[in-house]
Amino acid sequence: MKHTASLALFREACEVMPGGVNSPVRSFSSAHADCLFAKHAYGSHVVDVDDNTYLDYIGSWGPMILGHAHPLLCEHLEEVIQKGISFGLCTPQEVELAELMIDAYPGLAMVRMVNSGTEATMSAIRAARGFTGRDKIIKFEGCYHGHSDGLLVKSGSGALTFGTPTSPGVPADVVKHTLVCSYNDLAGVKRVIEANEGEIAAIILEPIAGNMGVVKAEPAFLQGLRTLCDGHGIVLIFDEVISGFRIRYGGAAEFYGIVPDMACFGKIIGAGLPVGAYGGRADIMKSVSPSGPVYQAGTLSGNPLAMHLGCRLLRYLKEHPKIYTELEEKGAYLKAGLQAILNQLRLPYQIHQVGSLLTLFFTEREIRSFADVQTCDVNLFERYFRYLYDHGILIAPSPYEAMFLSAAHTYEELDETLLMMQRALEQLL
Ligand SMILES: *Cc1c(COP(=O)(O)O)cnc(C)c1O
Repeated sequence: MKHTASLALFREACEVMPGGVNSPVRSFSSAHADCLFAKHAYGSHVVDVDDNTYLDYIGSWGPMILGHAHPLLCEHLEEVIQKGISFGLCTPQEVELAELMIDAYPGLAMVRMVNSGTEATMSAIRAARGFTGRDKIIKFEGCYHGHSDGLLVKSGSGALTFGTPTSPGVPADVVKHTLVCSYNDLAGVKRVIEANEGEIAAIILEPIAGNMGVVKAEPAFLQGLRTLCDGHGIVLIFDEVISGFRIRYGGAAEFYGIVPDMACFGKIIGAGLPVGAYGGRADIMKSVSPSGPVYQAGTLSGNPLAMHLGCRLLRYLKEHPKIYTELEEKGAYLKAGLQAILNQLRLPYQIHQVGSLLTLFFTEREIRSFADVQTCDVNLFERYFRYLYDHGILIAPSPYEAMFLSAAHTYEELDETLLMMQRALEQLL
C-alpha cells in the first residue's frame, strides 16, 4: 500500500507539531511504520488520504463501539449545532447523561463531567485526597490513567519505595506520594498499606487493564482490594475509561460484581467527542466544589454537543443489551480462530480476550502483570503488525494495546482478518 499523501502530510506536520502528531502513538513510530492520515471512516472501516481502506481495530481507541459514523450518532446533528455549540451555562443534556450513567453503573450516586480521561482520573484522585485528608495513592504498574504528573510513574527500586517519574518534566517531589504496586499481587498491596498506615487516600486501577494489552484483574485480587479499602478507609477508584459501557453496560463493576467507591469514564461516554467523567459515592462527590471544598472546574465541561452524543449512544446501548453478548461472541470467535492458527504454527503466545477487547501476546509466559507483559517478543509483534498494516488490517501499532471490536464488524470481516493474521503469522516463522 502506498502512503504518499500521508507521508507528505506527516513531513508537513512534523514542522508544526512535535513528532507530527497530537498524541504519540499516532506517529506509528513505535512500530517503525509509516504514519497514517485518516480521511473518513464508516462502520468497521477507515480510509486514509491515499484512499487505502483498512478494516479498523483501533476504533478511536475505544469510543467507536457501534463502529464509525453510525447513523444514530450522525443524524440531525446540524439542528443540535444550530441551537448553539457551547454556552458556559447548565444544559438539560448534562443532567440526562449523568442520570443515564448513574442508572447504569453500580454504586454511582453523582458524577462530574470533564473533558478527557486524564482529567477524570486526576480529579477523582483530588476528590479522594480531599475527602480522606490523606496524600498518598497506590497505582499499578502497566495501568494507564492519562498523563497527569502524579500518575506518570513506575515502581522505584525495592518493593516499598515510592514511584519514579516516567517522564522528564515530572518532579520526583510530585510523584513521591504515588506508590506503585504490581497488578494482581494482593500481598504486595497489603504490605504497602501496612507500611503507610493511615496515609493512603486511594487505590486506582483499571479493573480490566487495556493499556498493557488486555489483562484482567483476578476476581480474588479485586475482592481483596475492596476488603482492604474498607478496612483502611481507602477510596477504591476503578478507571473505567476503556471498560466502562464496553465490557458491560455497567462496566467492569458489573462484570465482577464489585462496587468501587469512585469510577472514571471517558471514550464511549463521549461517542468520539472529548469527554471524561468521574463519580462515585455521594459523600465523596459532595466534597467537590461548589458543594464542597475540593476545587475542580472546566470551561467546556459538559459541552452540549458532547453530552448530546453521549446520551444518544448510552440510550442506544441501554435499549440494545444484546450488543454485549454479540460482542462477546465475536471476540471469542476471533480468539478461537487465532488460537487454532497459532497452535498449528507453534509460536509462543497468550491471547487475552474480554468481550470486544483482545490482545495477542508473543510470549510463553502466563500474563498477570506488567512484568509478564515485558517478556513479549516486540520484534515478532512489529513484523506481525507490519504485515497486517500492509494488507489492510489496522491494529494498534504497539504490542501493549487492545484490539477494539465494534458492533459493525461482521463475521465475514472477522474471517478476512483471521486469514490475514494467519499469513502474517506464517511469515514470522
Ligand atoms: C485513554 C485512557 C485514559 C486517558 O484518557 P484521555 O481521554 O486520553 O485523557 C485514562 N485511563 C484509561 C484506562 C485510558 O484507557
